[in-house]
Amino acid sequence: ARTMRTAAVLVAVGLLAAGCAGPGSADDDTQLVGVAMPTTVQERWIGDGENLEAQFTSLGYDVDLEYADDDVDTQIAQITAMIDAGADALVVGAVDGSKLRAVLSQAATAGIAILSYDRLIRDSPDVGYYASFDNWSVGVLQANALLTGLGAIDASGARTSAPGPWAVEIFAGSPDDNNATVFYQGAMSVLQPYLDSGVLVVPSGQTDFAVVGTPGWKGETAAARLQTLTGPYLAGLHLDGILAPNDGIAIALLDAARSGLGYGGDGPALPVVPGQDAELASVRSIVAGEQYSTVYKDTQQLAEVAVQMVRDLLAGDEPEVNDTTSYDNGVRVVPSYLLAPQLVTLDNYREVLVDGGYYAQDELGTPP
Ligand code: BGC
Repeated sequence: ARTMRTAAVLVAVGLLAAGCAGPGSADDDTQLVGVAMPTTVQERWIGDGENLEAQFTSLGYDVDLEYADDDVDTQIAQITAMIDAGADALVVGAVDGSKLRAVLSQAATAGIAILSYDRLIRDSPDVGYYASFDNWSVGVLQANALLTGLGAIDASGARTSAPGPWAVEIFAGSPDDNNATVFYQGAMSVLQPYLDSGVLVVPSGQTDFAVVGTPGWKGETAAARLQTLTGPYLAGLHLDGILAPNDGIAIALLDAARSGLGYGGDGPALPVVPGQDAELASVRSIVAGEQYSTVYKDTQQLAEVAVQMVRDLLAGDEPEVNDTTSYDNGVRVVPSYLLAPQLVTLDNYREVLVDGGYYAQDELGTPP
């Protein structure tokens, strides 16, 4: 009997040493962060996920990183699993900003800290904080790049003597992503006066967000919409510019202008097309003199902000924010930390992206 008792004690000590307090209870003190990212279609989210995972891991957190394939039900299932796994915090880049209310209410009931990442989560009272870029400024940068590329304004932003009019078409991002509206509104705040004065014309007449949005941010959807608008261009009008909301869509639209309108090469000039994300294909295209610009958003820095916010929340401290007015999610104004986006063109890509260590020059090709 004595031997058996000793064995039982040894087993119990062994279990304690292994940090196992028995079924059904938390097995150690390591805190778990659920990182729910929307998609791997745009390169940036792969970087976001990797940066967040690496930074949380190096600080001793456990991380559950999931990608939702742009599918809201998948994302809800992933977040539910994170809650069930005992997550202490959630960092969420929403697929559909308006469809997470119920699952986040469960998370909040479980005492989980919730951070809205890059995209604002709408219609939920449970979103504690928001870490993103100044998305309005992204749209302003895109619109100013379009005007500069067309020659309507100069580098200082002043109107040139070129009279125009320039023919442009407008494209926006996915309507279920709050950012898409903000990018569009920022851009239109710059373009509207030029549309009103006739310096810019939109031959299709399509300018409303409800019409120019691109569900799921799908490049092929944007390209298909451009194909439906080509009538005046096939009849001889030159399409001078396209407001494109991100790099994936910019590249798809440039391809569509090549294949559908015969632009580029020996044909008429490609339209001036801005983008966003500094994706490799787009920066290569900029270096080759095709895409006009992109907007660089340092996702490493965004991850740092998000990680610091989560650390503060888990320590019971108030995270630092720099904006408490811009992001009303329909239920509350979500306190935000917004980083500055940066315009990249042929003129400064070296300084920003190569000297900054984001790309090596030999990945980017050489200017013609
Ligand atoms: C992001 C962009 C990205 C787009 C598509 C937006 O919410 O801010 O950087 O291009 O989603 O993934």
